[in-house]
Amino acid sequence: MTESVEQMIDRLCAKIPDHPEPGVLFRDLTPLFADGDGFKRTVDALTDAFRGQYDCVAGVEARGFMIAAAVAYASGVGIVPVRKKGKLPRETISQQYNLEYGTETLEIHTDDVPRGSRVLVLDDVLATGGTLGASASLLTRAGFNVAGFGVIMELTALRGRAQLGGHRVRALLRV
Ligand code: AMP
Repeated sequence: MTESVEQMIDRLCAKIPDHPEPGVLFRDLTPLFADGDGFKRTVDALTDAFRGQYDCVAGVEARGFMIAAAVAYASGVGIVPVRKKGKLPRETISQQYNLEYGTETLEIHTDDVPRGSRVLVLDDVLATGGTLGASASLLTRAGFNVAGFGVIMELTALRGRAQLGGHRVRALLRV
């Protein structure tokens, strides 16, 4: 029987107890990224889920870059990097948000794509939603329209969707 995308992602996700700190079950998707068929099916599924609904994609540093670059190439659109503070050389806007411990700041250039562009935001894992929520705030403040969020895996117990302002979320595997 053909393995579903959900089954494949589960098989190619390494579960690391107590990383990076006690009590966290870390979902490491590098085995999925390293598997040619697995990565292709993942990228195709995310591309198909939002087909025709976006003008460009945004990838969140760093694992989101890999997914976003592949989806951008597959769908023939460009990519906007959402970067950690201090990496982008021209005019940026910044958004600080809370992590479980401490804070993080993300930045984007404001003029890489035209205002009003529909931007699909991509990352590997949706956990608390802080990262994707901050990314959406940045894009909205810069004058872009959030077309939705695509992730490989959603950790449903952390209720990250609630941070995403009612935008469409497609998670290929919900655990
Ligand atoms: P979030 O809490 O949704 O802002 O997630 C922050 C970032 O940490 C995301 O980019 C996720 O990829 C990553 N992350 C958070 N929790 C986990 C986890 N349990 N396993 C793997 N990655 C995680």
